[in-house]
Amino acid sequence: MKLLYLFSLTLLSGTLAAQQNVNNIQYSKMLKSPDRKEIRIPDIMGFKTLKCDFHMHTVFSDGVVWPTVRVEEAWEEGLDAIAITDHIENQPSKKYVSGDHNASYEIALEAAKEKNILLVHAGEITRGMPPGHLNALFLEDTNPLDVPVALDALMAAKKQGAFIIWNHPGWKAQQPDTCLWMPMHQELFEKGLINGVEVFNEVEYYPIVLDWCLNRKMAVICNSDIHDITAMAYDLEKGHRPMTLVFAKDRSLASLKEAMFANRTVAYFDNKLAGNGEFLAAIIKASVKIVSVGSEGDGKTKSYEIGNSSTVPFDLITKEGAKIFIPSNASVILQLKPDDFKDLTVTNLFIGTGRNLKVTLK
Ligand SMILES: [Zn+2]
Ligand SMILES: [Zn+2]
Repeated sequence: MKLLYLFSLTLLSGTLAAQQNVNNIQYSKMLKSPDRKEIRIPDIMGFKTLKCDFHMHTVFSDGVVWPTVRVEEAWEEGLDAIAITDHIENQPSKKYVSGDHNASYEIALEAAKEKNILLVHAGEITRGMPPGHLNALFLEDTNPLDVPVALDALMAAKKQGAFIIWNHPGWKAQQPDTCLWMPMHQELFEKGLINGVEVFNEVEYYPIVLDWCLNRKMAVICNSDIHDITAMAYDLEKGHRPMTLVFAKDRSLASLKEAMFANRTVAYFDNKLAGNGEFLAAIIKASVKIVSVGSEGDGKTKSYEIGNSSTVPFDLITKEGAKIFIPSNASVILQLKPDDFKDLTVTNLFIGTGRNLKVTLK
């Protein structure tokens, strides 16, 4: 009896509530559901694979978004870490947006904590060539980098233990016909003031830079340098923004920094990977598995079911020149000879300038 009374009371109050709201009917189903797209790239060699973008702008330099939007985008696109790198020397909206060089970091920090995105405190030192543009990451305070001489800015960053990236080295506005490692870059590198270089920026790949990084033991970096809203700039339905994969001991800023100084990074752009062959081989081996072997076909070939658990698809060529495509997050059945699994060339994995990874799958 008591239960029934409670039930009818609830029903009554429910009806009343509905009656009170007849002039405010909610259509919240029209809103976009807050989904996070998961990027599946396996953890390798005992490290956690972190998906990162270390180059982006907000209204605090020449970008068009408020800093918290960068965090929202990163969460929706499946990233683990971002660095907001507003230009130190170029702030066209300064008349309308006040705040010092730490403002974008400070504004985004609360949102980053809420969304569990690692936010790297950073800034972009923006100079003519040489040295060009350089991102200083893992800063305590970006303001001391606002000094007239580029070298002083880099030294101020180094004093804070920064990881420094040379950005878009082959950008046409600064290197119109070529992509040169200039004497000043050598000097900065020897002083420990260049720790990584972007092999990819926005939509530009600089193949020669991959060899620069691998030969000099610098981190391979791949960033968006996004100024607009990412969904307006990139086709996120079919693809992904460019990002740097970092193989870190755990998912923390300290481990991220340690891994970057140890050059445990790979570039990920347009469904391609570029970097140290050891990392690329570990990724494809952890992703691709021969699930089952079917009956013999014509006596020479068998049908193989091959599965790929990662978001990265793989384009392979056998020794005899046959093309094999293994799509992302899927399995395919292919007629192959047992020998075809040896010395496969992976055409979307780059281990040097003009060189592809070779792999034997088991
Ligand atoms: Zn730049
Ligand atoms: Zn930039």
